[in-house]
Amino acid sequence: MTSPDTPDAPHLAALRPRLPSPVREVVDGRFECHGVRLVLKRDDLIHPELIGNKWRKLAPSLAAAAGRTVVTFGGAYSNHLRATAAAGRLLGVPTVGVVRGEELAGRPLNPSLTRCTADGMRLHFVDRATYRRKCEPRTLAAILRAADAEQAYVVPEGGSNAEAVRGCRALGTELHGRADVVAVACGTGGTLAGLAAGLAPGQRALGVPVLKGGFLAADIRALQQHAFGGPRGTWSLDDRFHLGGYARVPDELGAFAADFEHRHGLPVERLYVAKLLYGLVTLAGEGAFPRGTTVAAVITGRPFP
Ligand SMILES: *Cc1c(COP(=O)(O)O)cnc(C)c1O
Repeated sequence: MTSPDTPDAPHLAALRPRLPSPVREVVDGRFECHGVRLVLKRDDLIHPELIGNKWRKLAPSLAAAAGRTVVTFGGAYSNHLRATAAAGRLLGVPTVGVVRGEELAGRPLNPSLTRCTADGMRLHFVDRATYRRKCEPRTLAAILRAADAEQAYVVPEGGSNAEAVRGCRALGTELHGRADVVAVACGTGGTLAGLAAGLAPGQRALGVPVLKGGFLAADIRALQQHAFGGPRGTWSLDDRFHLGGYARVPDELGAFAADFEHRHGLPVERLYVAKLLYGLVTLAGEGAFPRGTTVAAVITGRPFP
């Protein structure tokens, strides 16, 4: 059907993604004064509705699903659920979203879940204990049965299956010769795992986890093992910039993001991209990048709504 290097099935190509995504240099004194160049890899411009790394991650799964219902998982504000719902509508693929938190059923939907249903996604709420065990085969089977989605194609939470990781290699290859360090915010780490594999020798990837935990390096090794059969590329994580954990946006971060928007005219997504940029400004200030380094920041998404 499709090779791992060209995951877009013809019907996906019909959506005319802007690939390779644009690279734009920004002039920012906080980098300049250390002799560092900053460029933005604008994955947020790949598609008006299926933005950023979610395009790279979902396109291969949607091709593999071959028209079957796609079922996936997420929290009440999940970018991944919204992207899957939008992709389903654009491609005419039915989607089911399994949402963490039984107590949300029967309450008015938040704006993120409202968007999911507007895009035709059927929502199925499960309690948190069940949600935590969703990767166990018996629990998964029970969830699919209860959601009336037993024949569906299952995409994991955050979308990081082997196809998604292989799909993100192209992010790395598009940056050959463009940067020395490529930095990306990490949720599941699937994007970083693929990006690192796609970079050229001499380039390295830097991940900024937005969740508290410290378990991510092992997850990324497992994702690369699963997708490629072993470790690929040069990458590291800096765990200092989660700012309290997932979806925590302290005032300091909000102010930083607003200032960055003002300086560069870039809408800054708060849950991931703001933490990445905050981390990079901090690292530059610490002298972490040798003079002459070009750093590419991957703009993986844009603010919702
Ligand atoms: C989902 C998402 C990420 C994280 O991607 P992973 O592959 O799960 O690490 C980063 N940025 C944005 C804007 C996202 O929506």
